[in-house]
Formats: sequence, structure tokens, C-alpha cells
Amino acid sequence: MSRQEWDRLAVAMSACIACDLSQSRQRVVPGQFPPGARVLLVGEAPGREEDEGGEPFVGRSGRLLDGLLADVGLDRSRVAVVNTVKCRPPANRTPKRAELATCRPWLDQQVEAVDPAVVVTLGGSALAWAFGARHRLRDMRGRVHSGAAVGRPVVATYHPSAALRFGPAGEPLAALRADLGLVAELLRTA
Ligand code: SF4
Repeated sequence: MSRQEWDRLAVAMSACIACDLSQSRQRVVPGQFPPGARVLLVGEAPGREEDEGGEPFVGRSGRLLDGLLADVGLDRSRVAVVNTVKCRPPANRTPKRAELATCRPWLDQQVEAVDPAVVVTLGGSALAWAFGARHRLRDMRGRVHSGAAVGRPVVATYHPSAALRFGPAGEPLAALRADLGLVAELLRTA
């Protein structure tokens, strides 16, 4: 697997009409895979700005994420970013279980193409993708899971939108910062 495989996937998914989200999107948002990326962040779904521009995490959540990555010494330009579904749900609602299942093969193939040293799940949809739907984020965050179904180390943490929603004093922001720090430490010792 490789850059060529990533590019092949991006072209193929740009024409995907496998679920109803294809009818409300402006464009498919495959994600980003910069050369040399050792970290793969898995978010939930494109938002309005991502749907318009075609790039992942460019809205308020993206700007918060960029700052937090920089704080812990991770360069966003060296981090791959994808979502559990590649098309924006109407009104930014949470993807339905059937949509997540339909889109999953794209995501699973992207993980193989990027071949990251660590996968970071952001929020509940990505957590369910990696571990199954019955797990709670609060119980899973804060440590490295080596036995996840995605076949490589996984760190589960909050989605940046939760950090924005709960504000500077909320648990999600502190947890997200700490968990990204854990990822940076893992890469330093890997
Ligand atoms: S969300 Fe995924 S499965 Fe649904 S249309 Fe978009 S690319 Fe295809």
C-alpha cells in the first residue's frame, strides 16, 4: 500500500453514491495524507466549510486542532486526517449507523494506504469504528490501545468540536490536549 493507493482511493470515492449522504453533499472529502505521515487522525464527518472546500478540518474545529497539535510538538503538515464518513451529513447531524457501515470500507482502505504508527480517534463515531459501539469515550481515552480492530495502536480522544462546545474550562479540551501529548510521546519513543 502506498501514496498511489491513497490517490486511487480518493479518485474512486469521489464518485461514490453508496449511501444517502451522496445526495446532500457538495463534494466528497477524502482527507489528507502528507508525505511521511506517522499519525492518522480519524474525525467524524465533513462540516460546511469542508464540504465547500474539499479539505478536512478547516473550520473552527480544524483551527483548534492545529493549535493543539503545535502545542504538543506535532506538525499538522505531517499528520494524515480523514473522517468516518466522507460526505457531509445534512445540518451536520451525527452520521447514522448505516452510513458509517457503508462508508467503512473506504476508511479501512485508507488506514492500509497510510500505514500509520498510531491512529487517533476523535469523538464517538471514530471510537465506534475502532472499538465497537458499546464503548464510552471517557473510559477509553488517556491510554494507548494496542489490540484495536484497526490492527495498529489507537489513542481515543474527544473531537475538537466537543472541546469548543464545552469551552476552555471543560474536560474535553484538557483531555484532547493530554491525549495528543500522549501521541507525541509515543512517536518519540517508537
Ligand atoms: S459517505 Fe461514504 S459511502 Fe456515503 S456516499 Fe459518501 S463516500 Fe460513499
